[in-house]
Amino acid sequence: FNENRAVWQHLMGDDVWRIDYQMAPDADPAEVSRESVVRERLARQFGADCEVEIVWVGPYAYRSECIDRMRDGPVFFMGDAAKVVSPFGARGGNTGIADADNLAWKLAAVLRQEAPASLLESYHEERHEAARENVRVTARTARFLRPADGAERVLRSAAIALARQHPFARQLINTGRMAIANPYTASSACAANGGRPVQNVALAWADGSAGTLNDLLAWSGSRLLLLAFGPLGAPALARLRSLSRQAPVLCVQVVERDGSAQATEHVQDAACRLRAACHLPSIAGGWALLRQDSYLAAAGDFIDGALVQAVATALGLNRATHAEVTA
Ligand SMILES: Cc1cc2nc3c(=O)[nH]c(=O)nc-3n(C[C@H](O)[C@H](O)[C@H](O)COP(=O)(O)OP(=O)(O)OC[C@H]3O[C@@H](n4cnc5c(N)ncnc54)[C@H](O)[C@@H]3O)c2cc1C
Repeated sequence: FNENRAVWQHLMGDDVWRIDYQMAPDADPAEVSRESVVRERLARQFGADCEVEIVWVGPYAYRSECIDRMRDGPVFFMGDAAKVVSPFGARGGNTGIADADNLAWKLAAVLRQEAPASLLESYHEERHEAARENVRVTARTARFLRPADGAERVLRSAAIALARQHPFARQLINTGRMAIANPYTASSACAANGGRPVQNVALAWADGSAGTLNDLLAWSGSRLLLLAFGPLGAPALARLRSLSRQAPVLCVQVVERDGSAQATEHVQDAACRLRAACHLPSIAGGWALLRQDSYLAAAGDFIDGALVQAVATALGLNRATHAEVTA
């Protein structure tokens, strides 16, 4: 019913179906968007007696482009102004929001003079890596759906033919890979074990009432959130108090399993969900430093100088020192 070209359909809010028809390369966008032409196409797919209320019709073309730099002085590029991707896997709008999420807390920290302006450079480092990856993934889907002649077309035809009978080939059918929170592997604001998204999980507040990691992040306001797992001795408690006095960091002890709290500010996590969400190994102890955009800045074993270094890195202070030294 669409001359062997692709059709996507999915149910959206308000019980509205969105149906995307791939047009012939030489189709006239104005002509194919005319209501009578649209109704004729719908009748071919659903039958002439199917009643349809048309909410919106709009032609669009795939575009795949990425800016070279996400920042030019005081101007930050985000969303579609920074990159445009083919609409597969919901990577356009979602990653635009992630751009804003990434920059917002950094701008706030700089404006409050809690971090140097050089922290803002990590916006480009992190979100440009994400933008390039999203362009790559969506372009690959676009090529699967509209392959070039030769090897691409042979691979696609083989995958579709095999998928009818062989489950392994179904994984090769690429109609879109859903958006993810992209990892940051080359950020000057993250430690080597950081730059990974942290999933929102359930926890219990000190009084036993239900909460979530997002609630904890909201509580920390504009500060970094340090989660210290397991029992804490007096020296560690003193260092955490000192850290939260001297840096924009909210320190919270995570009491796991049937442990007990030593810090006033603590949460309970009997099932060790927070530890898993923070990508920590399943042995006792350790800490995780989280940013306002729900990314792990760093993780470590002991409340010592490495933690102080991690806080400095997350706030762009090491980068500033480095720039000053090399200037
Ligand atoms: C058919 C289609 C389906 C899509 N489906 C999804 C999906 O399911 N999930 C998803 O995550 N993404 C999807 N996307 C992508 C998503 O819509 C975009 O990535 C997202 O809207 C980009 O947001 P933005 O704010 O960066 O830009 P825009 O949404 O383009 O917003 C920019 C705004 O700026 C305004 N503007 C422009 N110039 C000026 C000016 N000079 N002065 C003042 N205002 C100006 C524009 O009018 C517009 O309102 C889809 C895109 C298309 C085309």
